[in-house]
Amino acid sequence: MDFEAVIGLEVHVQLKTRTKIFCGCATDFGAEPNTRVCPVCLGYPGVLPVMNEEAIRKTILAGLMIGCDITRHSKWDRKNYFYPDMPKNYQISQYDLPLCLGGKVGAVGVTRIHLEEDVAKSFHFATNSGVDFNRAGTPLMEIVSEPDMRTPEDAFNYLTALKEILVTGGVSDCDMEKGQLRCDCNVSVRPVGQVTFGEKIEIKNMNSISGVKRALEYEIPRQINALKRGEKLQQETRRWDDDDGKTFLMRTKEYAHDYRYFPEPDLMPVVVDDTMLAEIRRQLPELPEARRHRFVAQYGLPDYDAGVLVANGALANFFEQAAGKNPKAAANWIMTVSEITTTPIQPEHITELVAAIDAGQISGKQGKDVFAEMLAAGKPPALIIKEKGLAQVSDTGAIEAFAEQAIAANPKSVADFRAGNKAALNALVGQVMKLSKGKANPQLVSSVLAKKLQGS
Ligand code: ADP
Ligand code: MG
Ligand code: ZN
Repeated sequence: MDFEAVIGLEVHVQLKTRTKIFCGCATDFGAEPNTRVCPVCLGYPGVLPVMNEEAIRKTILAGLMIGCDITRHSKWDRKNYFYPDMPKNYQISQYDLPLCLGGKVGAVGVTRIHLEEDVAKSFHFATNSGVDFNRAGTPLMEIVSEPDMRTPEDAFNYLTALKEILVTGGVSDCDMEKGQLRCDCNVSVRPVGQVTFGEKIEIKNMNSISGVKRALEYEIPRQINALKRGEKLQQETRRWDDDDGKTFLMRTKEYAHDYRYFPEPDLMPVVVDDTMLAEIRRQLPELPEARRHRFVAQYGLPDYDAGVLVANGALANFFEQAAGKNPKAAANWIMTVSEITTTPIQPEHITELVAAIDAGQISGKQGKDVFAEMLAAGKPPALIIKEKGLAQVSDTGAIEAFAEQAIAANPKSVADFRAGNKAALNALVGQVMKLSKGKANPQLVSSVLAKKLQGS
């Protein structure tokens, strides 16, 4: 019997806001522990949360980019549980009225997007543990997908596309090393052809996209093999150990939380009026997929180049500034250095480099040396060409003089050429190149020689 996997992802994304969601503390990653805190995010009794409108706007922008319906009248709920990293013993979240509903990322359906507060972060040392509350209250968006994915690659592609969209919209930097994007993977298996889903197993708290793929590559065969042995799977929560390359059991269904959600009494409902929605709509950026198509149509780039450039918004912007008259050549230079936007090279320097090569001022090979120097020093190519004395001789007067010398010194090649052996011209071009110490522009040399030989 053949089995297939069913995968649905819950993705948590920290929003790129200056301050936290319900207080004015800064959202600085990496600040000294417990220095970005106040009575609100420390959960002191009697304090009142104040909603950060920017967090709402960013969540709605994300929803619009994903094609969700925006809930015009949503609200906040308390999700109750005890955990040392959550001082209030409840998390403010959204339960039955999330800000965004429906939508799609590629072929994968998005169920909902809701907003909540991130919790603090625990650290475990040799003999004790500590909690850093700087993270507590960071605006956190949860994006829940439909169980539409079937393979680890599907999950990888979905996360990559989702990240691309959120970064493009300035909603989040999605830096996974900083925990700005975290993911819970839900996965079950079933015999191919069966309509109902199998028992859902959740792998919690994944913090890399490739890790998600690896975890699923392990977990799917594990479940299939269990079923093939006649075992029954049950709903459970697991963890992924990336060093070990295995998932392991964390808790079974009996230990599932009952969060006792109820409406948050300290916050007003969120009302999104037409004006606010229209304002956010105006901020909608061009989506990566549309941008890829435009790069192919407008700049004549191959799909591959468009994909590489658009996958990194900063790189795509850099390319657009550098494209000039020969966008494909500009793309080639840009793609040779993956971190080009962090080098001192300016986009217009790429335009100038391509133009210098296309005009025959320097050869393609010399272009590589110039490019290396541009990368290292950030100097404009014209300056490097001048300093290194690389410019090819494109002065027709000088080339004509060399051409005449070459013709006079090589009567045999001249006779061969005139007798119809076009290849004989190459020998003469070689002579002129030698006389110019390699600096003459070969195309120009060839046309000057041809003209002279045909004319007389
Ligand atoms: P919970 O309430 O336990 O979080 P949800 O029904 O909200 O469960 O689903 C959470 C995630 O799990 C969603 O992304 C959903 O698509 C996915 N999912 C639900 N059922 C299954 C299943 N049987 N197999 C795989 N994924 C599933
Ligand atoms: Mg869940
Ligand atoms: Zn605070």
